[in-house]
Amino acid sequence: MNQTARTRPGGSERALSEAYDTALLDLDGVVYAGGEAIAYAVESLGAAREGGMHLAYVTNNAARTPQTVAEHLTRLGVPAEPSDVITSAQAVARLISEQLPAGSRVLVIGAEGLRVALRERGLVPVESADDDPAAVVQGYGGPDMPWSRLMEASYAVARGLPWFASNTDLTIPSGRGIAPGNGAAVEVVRIATGATPQVAGKPLPPMHRETVLRTGAERPLVVGDRLDTDIEGAHVGGVDSLLVLTGVTTAAQLVAARPEHRPTYVAEDLRGLLEPQPEVEPVGDDGFRCGGWTASVDGDALVLAGEGEPVDGLRALCAAAWTAAGDGVCELDSGKVVARLGL
Ligand SMILES: [Mg+2]
Repeated sequence: MNQTARTRPGGSERALSEAYDTALLDLDGVVYAGGEAIAYAVESLGAAREGGMHLAYVTNNAARTPQTVAEHLTRLGVPAEPSDVITSAQAVARLISEQLPAGSRVLVIGAEGLRVALRERGLVPVESADDDPAAVVQGYGGPDMPWSRLMEASYAVARGLPWFASNTDLTIPSGRGIAPGNGAAVEVVRIATGATPQVAGKPLPPMHRETVLRTGAERPLVVGDRLDTDIEGAHVGGVDSLLVLTGVTTAAQLVAARPEHRPTYVAEDLRGLLEPQPEVEPVGDDGFRCGGWTASVDGDALVLAGEGEPVDGLRALCAAAWTAAGDGVCELDSGKVVARLGL
């Protein structure tokens, strides 16, 4: 990464929904969790759209079709068309179509979303390594995908066929705990074959390119809950980002984020999309002020003073920690001060 490392959250005098033309929204942990809408998501997205912001939904999940995702969103009260949904299946299908002639057979280890995306690019999904495929593509196949599918992938990859993966998210958070994601299944085939796939999904460039191509966004804002996919993907694409704290990232993880994981803005939830963002101002030698809070470094610990909106305290803490860490990771003890914010 040759960008200068971000050392504090950014400010915006205008509401983010007015300052950017398109929100590129992650789904899980941002719009819904466990299938249900996250607090304030429905009304905030409705207001942003009414204000003229274009909303697009960007997911690494390759199993569901855009049609299915759009129907789910609409049911939750977030009206969406299939064309508003961009999946890693679409990004990987484009990647394959750029390397293989139209009509090529592709062995699919995955679900319907992947097959639909391949057909859309003029490729022919097949199910067996013996069906004369020209490539192999692997995406999340759902909880009932049998082990024999991974065997099928391994046979074809071991023959030297080009191998593609929609995404390599290692885990899927669920109501009952952490489950293995497509990245874990890709690792199985990698271990068996010694080969390495080409990957499309966040945070890699093919996914961002697919998103911009399909939305025509000129001034997009990536909105996500995950540092190593959503926020890093925004860095790779060179666009601004908003982290919301409704998903997998904790306030303490944000304070300790390395440069490519530092978002432009942070908000508690999607209401942040409708709000201006406060400036974080330097104060004294190594302190930073935001709202009623001041954060600074004292020896090997972060110190927080003041009161006010908890997220302002977090913004001030990020500035103190990111400045101290520079191009690296903040090693300062932040647990106690972050806990005090109750985020
Ligand atoms: Mg997410």
